[in-house]
This record gives sequence, structure tokens and C-alpha cells, in this order.
Amino acid sequence: MERATGGRRTEIRRGEEWTVQNVRSSEKTYTCPGCHQPVPAGSAHVVAWATESLFGREAALAARRHWHLRCWG
Ligand SMILES: [Zn+2]
Repeated sequence: MERATGGRRTEIRRGEEWTVQNVRSSEKTYTCPGCHQPVPAGSAHVVAWATESLFGREAALAARRHWHLRCWG
């Protein structure tokens, strides 16, 4: 499981509202959609997903992406 720091927040990116959560650490390595480089396991990063999705909140949550802090910010 991911250990989150702080609460969720919403941000507007490219005209869409995203739910954003800072993650202190994770057990898996993810690929950052911003730079297509790995987000190493154990590194602090950001998880983001579209708040409102055509496919519903559950699908949006399932499609969440893990970003480097610098790539999201
Ligand atoms: Zn990145």
C-alpha cells in the first residue's frame, strides 16, 4: 500500500480538475507520464487522477498516475 502524506487536493491542469495526493513512499516502481522515466520504489512522488471522468470515479481512480514531484509541479 501507498503511504500518503497530508490530504488530497484538487488542481486544474489542461482544463481538467485533478485530485492530487502526495505520496511519501511506494513499494512499486511506476513510470512517470511526464518524462517517461521510472519513479523508483520508496521515493516521494505525486499521485493524480481526473476528479470527474466519463467512466466514473472508480475508473478514474484506477487510472491514476504516479508523477515525479518536479514533473507534476
Ligand atoms: Zn517525471
